[in-house]
Amino acid sequence: MVIDQERCIGCEACTVACKKENNGLSGWIRVTTLNSPCKDTPAGTFPNLVMHFLPTLCNHCKQPPCAEACPLEAISRSDSGIVVLAEELCDGCRTCLDACPYGAIDFNDAKNKAEKCNLCSHRIETGLEPFCVVCCEGQAIHFGDLNDPDSSVVRILKSNENYCIKPDEGTGPAVYYLTPKTPRRL
Ligand code: SF4
Repeated sequence: MVIDQERCIGCEACTVACKKENNGLSGWIRVTTLNSPCKDTPAGTFPNLVMHFLPTLCNHCKQPPCAEACPLEAISRSDSGIVVLAEELCDGCRTCLDACPYGAIDFNDAKNKAEKCNLCSHRIETGLEPFCVVCCEGQAIHFGDLNDPDSSVVRILKSNENYCIKPDEGTGPAVYYLTPKTPRRL
């Protein structure tokens, strides 16, 4: 997944889409800001205020510590690179929540199970894109095969400066962000 911060307007349509599609607790993709701890608060000093939104979700890590930590092997990385949590195998031990350096796993008290973004695997299997991608008002979220040199995500990454969150954790995150070119002046 590639997220273009220049195009994200912080509307949270992605969060609503995720919640609706997956019956999740609060949506497994959430929007925060890069420079400020509060979503609706710009950083800087007037009149030089900037605000960039940062949608975050499971990074579908290439070496996912959540999968390693789960004693029941309820989390696994598929051949296509999606890190899937099989709800039926989860016994609610919460080990994966502590193992994920991104805070990307929720705990559903009502079900006594962990839950997280599965990249809308049920949609991908039928040739559809994740629902957050479809519903993004600013078309800021791109989805595709990072191993395919001709895919749109690879082309976008090649032609834009980009970064991953917490690369030093060594998990190999597969969600990339395009570095904002211009500060958004308010
Ligand atoms: Fe696992 Fe967290 Fe990486 Fe997602 S972001 S694959 S939940 S360690």
